[in-house]
Amino acid sequence: MAKPFASSADLGAKEQTLEVLADGVYALTAEGDPNLGAVEGEDFLVCFEALATPVAARRWLAKLREHTDKPVRYLVLSHYHAVRVLGASAFDAEIIVSSEQTKGLIAERGQQDWESEYGRMPRLFEEPESIPGLTWPTMTFRDRLTIELGGDRGELVLEHVGRGHTEGDIVAWLPKHEILFAGDLVESQAALYTGDAFHFDWAAGTLDRVKAFGAQQLIGGRGAIARGRDEVDAAVEQTRAFLTTMHDTVGTAHRSGGTLKDAFDATHAALAPKFGHWPIFEHCLPFDVSRLWDEFEGVERPVIWTAERDRQVWDQLQS
Ligand SMILES: [Zn+2]
Repeated sequence: MAKPFASSADLGAKEQTLEVLADGVYALTAEGDPNLGAVEGEDFLVCFEALATPVAARRWLAKLREHTDKPVRYLVLSHYHAVRVLGASAFDAEIIVSSEQTKGLIAERGQQDWESEYGRMPRLFEEPESIPGLTWPTMTFRDRLTIELGGDRGELVLEHVGRGHTEGDIVAWLPKHEILFAGDLVESQAALYTGDAFHFDWAAGTLDRVKAFGAQQLIGGRGAIARGRDEVDAAVEQTRAFLTTMHDTVGTAHRSGGTLKDAFDATHAALAPKFGHWPIFEHCLPFDVSRLWDEFEGVERPVIWTAERDRQVWDQLQS
């Protein structure tokens, strides 16, 4: 039987859980659906990630409003993917922050990414007609931006630590509480989406820099919160193992004159025993292998995914 396209048959609602990580620091996890975060300043909020639609984002905001009624001054976007950014209007944020690279990617491929992700994960696009259009960052930075939280709350450091899940990912670091919001650069118990990734940079320097923060709590893009250095390091190394396994299998197929399909089959066989039961594994893998194959072919920047190209690659590899 043919596998249903991407996550198009995944229609079961996930339970959302708000967790208080420290005084004024919140995370929302959702059984493998995208995670979110929020940090209180003295008289304002910084929110991290925005979900796929304003209607979906409002459900998170309602939970957050049980803890604080401060206005959202900053909405921070870790990267450009539609399921992280298109709910932004619900936040009424004064300032929308991303890396410069992310803003460029929204301009270059935001529309195509919206259509692609809607086709892949329709369940996340709750009331899609509530999306007013692409989300445009109003403040950008290249490497690092510090937000003073006021009072004795310390600072929130936003940093681009290298190319990884995309060209422009940033993380949010709270030195006072040693808490890191890592976005999709780390997945603690979910498969990696690497269709827009720079696999070699990600597995080496970028993950090294993520690990070097020495976080005591890490919130990845999806999956459970890692608590304590052992769990945090394990989440980083799990992410790295997924990537290096792909390097081995796709690299071997490419070097030995195999096809993309050979690379996919070898990668699936190598990863499935350890990662096959994780959310979105079957969904992601054709797109992941396709992008890494391109990297071995010397294609510097990810080819733009369109709804049409998604189906072609899926039919070629996963059916
Ligand atoms: Zn992403």
